[in-house]
Formats: sequence, C-alpha cells, structure tokens
Amino acid sequence: MATNVILARMGEVTLKGLNRGRFEQQLMNNLRYRLRSYGKLNIFQSQSRIWIEAKEEGNPYFEDDASAKELMTAVTQVFGIVSVSLARKFEGDINDIDANAAEYVRKHLEANPDHKTFKVECKRGNKHFPMNSPMICEEVGAYILDNFSSLSVDVHNPDFILNVEVRDENYVYAGKLMGHRGLPVGTAGKGMLLLSGGIDSPVAGYMMASRGMPIDAVYFHSYPYTSEQAKQKVIDLAKIVSRFSGKMNLYVVDFTKIQLDMVKNSQHDMLTVVMRRVMLKIAEELAKKSGCKCLITGESLGQVASQTLEAIAITNEVVDMPILRPLIGIDKEATVKISRDIGAFETSILPFEDCCTIFVAKHPKTHPKHVDIEEAEKNLDIDAMVKMGVEEGLEVISI
Ligand code: ATP
Ligand code: MG
Repeated sequence: MATNVILARMGEVTLKGLNRGRFEQQLMNNLRYRLRSYGKLNIFQSQSRIWIEAKEEGNPYFEDDASAKELMTAVTQVFGIVSVSLARKFEGDINDIDANAAEYVRKHLEANPDHKTFKVECKRGNKHFPMNSPMICEEVGAYILDNFSSLSVDVHNPDFILNVEVRDENYVYAGKLMGHRGLPVGTAGKGMLLLSGGIDSPVAGYMMASRGMPIDAVYFHSYPYTSEQAKQKVIDLAKIVSRFSGKMNLYVVDFTKIQLDMVKNSQHDMLTVVMRRVMLKIAEELAKKSGCKCLITGESLGQVASQTLEAIAITNEVVDMPILRPLIGIDKEATVKISRDIGAFETSILPFEDCCTIFVAKHPKTHPKHVDIEEAEKNLDIDAMVKMGVEEGLEVISI
C-alpha cells in the first residue's frame, strides 16, 4: 500500500555548527505549531530531511497534489524550510518501484499536461537493496518510457525530474515548492515592529522574522481621524505577518489626544519628526514591557520627508534600543515584490488612511536641525505624552 508523505528540506539551519541542534529543534517546534490545524500529524527528522505524515487515514491534505498544496504552502512559510515535495511512500522491490513510479507519473501528467521530457534521479540509502542507483535509474526510466508514449528522456533540461529514494521504505516524487528559507523564528531575540497600514512595515516585520526574530507589533491609532477600517486593516496585516512569524501581540495605542496636542502646540513643518520621536518612545516602553530587544520600522532612505538621514538621526536620539530598518537600502519595487509574495499587498493598498497621512504638513522640513526640534518640542510635555500612550486606552490584541 502506498501513502503520501510530505518531504521538507532544511536550509541554513544545517550550517549552524554547534548550535545546529537548537536550530533544528526550534524549526520542528515551529512546524508543529504552524501545522496544528491540519489533522494529527507525524513530523520527524531523518537524514537532514523533515518528513510529515498523517497519523490517521483519510486526512484530506494527503489525498493528492491539489489538496496537499495548502498544507505544503503552510510548510513553505515556516522559516528555515528551503523546499517541499509531495512524495509517494511504499515498500517492496524494483517491481513495486516501477509500479509506484508509473502511478506517480500518471498523476503528475494530469496536473502538468505540458510536460514531455523527464529524467530519473535515484538515491539509495538501503545498501542491501540488490541494485545500485544507476541501475535503478535505468530500470525505472525504461519502465516509464514503455508506459507513457508522450514522454521522452532529456538528461540536460527535463520538464520534470522523477526522484526515487530507496531507504527502509521507498519514495518517489517530482517537483517542489520553494520555501521562504531564513532561520527558524525563536532563534533570535524578539523585536517590536511599528506596524502601519502601509506596504513597507509588514515587509519589514517579515524580513526580521526571516532571521529568526519573533515579533510583537504596535499600531498608533487616531480615531476618529483614522477609521475603524484602518485599524482592521492593520489587524489583517498583523495576521499575514504572523503566518510567518508566529504568535504575536498587537498593541494598539490611542494616539488621538497626543496628535491633537502636537498639532496645537508645535510647528507644522516639524510635526512628522516630532510625531515619529514620540511613536518611537512609546514603542520602546512597550517593547521593554513585552521583552522585546529592538524596534523595527519600514523606513527606506529618502522615500519621504521623515526618511532623510537627518530626520532619521533626530528620531534615533530619543531611544536607547537598536532600531532595525531592514528596508533602509531597498527600492520600493523590491519591497512591493516581497509584499506580493507574502500575500500582504492587496491588504496594504486598501485606501484607509493611517494617522501620518492625515496630520502631515504640506511642506515638512526635510533636513531638520537640533534647534528646529528644540523649538518644536518646547511647548510639549513629551514624557506625559509617552505615559498617556502606554497607559490610557491601550488595547492588546493577540494574533
Ligand atoms: P509604511 O508603508 O510601512 O506605512 P511609509 O512608507 O508610509 O511606511 P512612513 O509613514 O514615514 O512611511 O512610516 C515609516 C514607518 O513608521 C513605517 O514603516 C512604520 O514602521 C512606522 N509607522 C508609521 N505610521 C505608523 C502608525 N500609525 N503605527 C505604527 N507605526 C507606524
Ligand atoms: Mg505609511
């Protein structure tokens, strides 16, 4: 009897030398957590591969390529995984291998009717098997050619590679879904992401999570100047990031009074910089309370007025924690591509304003100096603002 199993390959984790055990353990934990809603699964490691099997018969995610796709996609979203294949597993001799390979190819051609050429690659882990790898390749290749008149062999540039692995059991598979690579989330310290409803910050969170960093997020909400829908959009984006980064707390700061105070008591051309300084200070307080060791923003150098080097330097001053800006040297187009890849783009471009777009000055100072910021904050009680942000009306949403 043949069953379907999912085979996942690990990436950078295997390079981690002495820490390898810890990285692999984290990866396995993350997979188990990510796949918790796909039925009872057996997830185990063998020969630097990860195998995922259904514990019970009739699990729909193992029926065929199409149903397995959803489960496989979830696996690709776990950082540390390089690629994923659906394999057919069975016992027996070369005749069983031929028959199962043919059955696999039949299904493969149903899903990929344009495939005309193939080659067979074989790995033999079971050294008691009476044929060696080249012999198995030759035999299976000939059997497939005999049974599928539409196919021919192309060893250099085949439409698909049929992989045969002979271990305690035998496996055949072809094709793979690419994973998001990176390092398992949980192998680095936690970061606090400043998450707006835009394109950039969800991508920034995704990028840091890909280096093993668990994420909490903070959103500054200025109701009713920013709508309930704007907040919902941020919640939706947090959910999208959390597919990759795992559980997160989303802190929603009630920013309305603070912003109105700024508008009233500060220079309009400095509003953006003042606002960003206060945001970072509040974010840092929340980060400390929730065990985060750094802040993360979606800033990219020169993109808008608050993202000149001068403005960045002046906003940096107010916090002690490192501020990570993974998009700082990245072109918008590249960011949009990642945004699409992670399924955030359609949500990010929904037209609900975030607080910056509403309170922003027409001509903000692009190269603020110290005297400017001193002047701008002269009539503000920044500490009181930060206290208010952290204490009054703070909402915590677990994602
Ligand atoms: P994004 O696409 O992420 O909204 P942006 O290009 O619109 O970024 P800014 O509005 O200058 O740029 O914001 C820069 C960064 O500041 C954002 O990437 C985000 O990390 C943070 N930020 C801005 N507004 C908010 C907000 N309302 N809540 C939380 N973080 C915010
Ligand atoms: Mg924005």
